Amino acid sequence: MSHEQDGKIGIARRALLRRAALLAPALGVAARASFAADEKMTQKDAEYQPTPKDGHACVDCQYFQPPEACKLVKGKISPNGWCSFWGSKPPQ
Ligand code: SF4
Repeated sequence: MSHEQDGKIGIARRALLRRAALLAPALGVAARASFAADEKMTQKDAEYQPTPKDGHACVDCQYFQPPEACKLVKGKISPNGWCSFWGSKPPQ
């Protein structure tokens, strides 16, 4: 497979994962079970950054797992971080 094909597949996979993450709350489905640890996205793919963006931070995201993990993104996740999959917690 060429590098170009790898890139297209990566982009398509990210787009699919992004849509799944966005649709999950609308469908009332928690993304938790379907994302095993080895299926999580890389921080780079999720466009993770260790600082908040536009007033949004991981600590307020439905996918955050205290103290420093995420259901969707691999690695150590700061409560003050942010990524492109940020989703507000549902009302309680
Ligand atoms: S914003 Fe949400 S989905 Fe993204 S890394 Fe933080 S907790 Fe995970």
